[in-house]
Amino acid sequence: MDESELCHLRRCIELAGEALDQGDEPFGSVLVAADGTVLAEDHNRVAGGDRTRHPEFELARWAAANMSPAARAQATVYTSGEHCPMCAAAHGWVGLGRIVYVSSSAQLVTWLTELGVPPPPVRPLPIQEVAPGVLVEGPVPALAEQVHDLHRRFHGTR
Ligand SMILES: [Zn+2]
Repeated sequence: MDESELCHLRRCIELAGEALDQGDEPFGSVLVAADGTVLAEDHNRVAGGDRTRHPEFELARWAAANMSPAARAQATVYTSGEHCPMCAAAHGWVGLGRIVYVSSSAQLVTWLTELGVPPPPVRPLPIQEVAPGVLVEGPVPALAEQVHDLHRRFHGTR
């Protein structure tokens, strides 16, 4: 993983921190074109009550509205945490390319269990069980502890 990729992942963590500052769950994602241009970014917005407002889902819908199929296939989505099944499905349906995540869903489950958080209503399947054609990279151990820390802060155990 080169410096520009790490830079996108750091931005995802920054966005996750912005979500946390706004009282939302700490998840952030960035959509990057084949030439390295950042096209769109977002963070979790579920605090308003719509629990489907995940950044990866928003980016998939943005891509469908604004990119050609060829451009989508060559784009990469960087994200602080591995896509949930809903977002992995949206990514697959829209035909986006590679995914690079900092921490895995398996790590998140471990962390949330340790924090005493009840299990989510959707099974935390790995991306490739939902969208087997998608190239996936992660976790990135050098950055994962920062994501872990954001989740500790969200769940009130600073
Ligand atoms: Zn999701």
